[in-house]
Amino acid sequence: MNGGNSAGGAGPHPAGTAADAGPGAAPVPAGASLAVSDLTAGYGRVTVLHGVSFIAGAGEVLGISGPNGAGKTTLLNAIAGLNPRCSGGVDLNGVHLARHPAYVRVSRGLALVPEGRQIIGSISVRANLELTLMARGRLRPDAEHRARMDQVLELFPGLKNRLRVPGSVLSGGEQQMLAIARALMTGPRVLLLDEPSQGLAPSVVSAVVDALQHLKRSVTIVLVEQNPHVLQMLADRTLTLSLGRIAGLATG
Ligand code: ATP
Repeated sequence: MNGGNSAGGAGPHPAGTAADAGPGAAPVPAGASLAVSDLTAGYGRVTVLHGVSFIAGAGEVLGISGPNGAGKTTLLNAIAGLNPRCSGGVDLNGVHLARHPAYVRVSRGLALVPEGRQIIGSISVRANLELTLMARGRLRPDAEHRARMDQVLELFPGLKNRLRVPGSVLSGGEQQMLAIARALMTGPRVLLLDEPSQGLAPSVVSAVVDALQHLKRSVTIVLVEQNPHVLQMLADRTLTLSLGRIAGLATG
């Protein structure tokens, strides 16, 4: 266990050691490493995260556990660029992302599967997946989109027959699969997953775990999860957050 507020050796970046993600920056290779340094975030005048630092190695599944209110969702949202009250470093394979908005982070290979899925219920499953075209600056499905669609439907075959139905009619498990599939459609190198097993029946949790095991190594995964069984099945290491600070690091 690690009692400090950092894990995996991440500290603030020395100036000039990493590139800034400009619009013409080179593509990030598969399974990027994610370095989070001195991340502080909150809401209004309340600070929730207090200088959190860690590295998730390329292809690693890094679990994040901790009690309700510890700041797990705030951490993932801050990494994804969704928390406006945020400071610190977020680097993908050495490319600085912290000054960039969420949509640039997505285009650089960082995708979030948010807590509660947040799929759009009023449009079809296919349309939910096509929303990601915007992240790639496309208006219509192209060959890359179709290839990714084939891949995600191979991972989640249950969605194949559901492409035309509105998102709202899906079961909780199907919605979780759609939320993961939607994130994968952006071609991420790092996937941030916020409690994917929440509210799902054990058999459905197993199906989600199986899919994530398929993704292991080809995508770096930061997995916020309260279910210890899921963490045990998937995580290489698990950080424990407590009151917005890293309270421990366990391997395996
Ligand atoms: P849980 O396991 O219950 O999802 P968590 O570890 O993910 O909890 P967060 O959701 O990040 O924790 O919340 C951390 C703290 O920030 C809590 O005290 C929470 O009330 C507060 N908080 C979260 N979202 C907001 C918000 N939008 N505005 C104000 N405070 C918030």
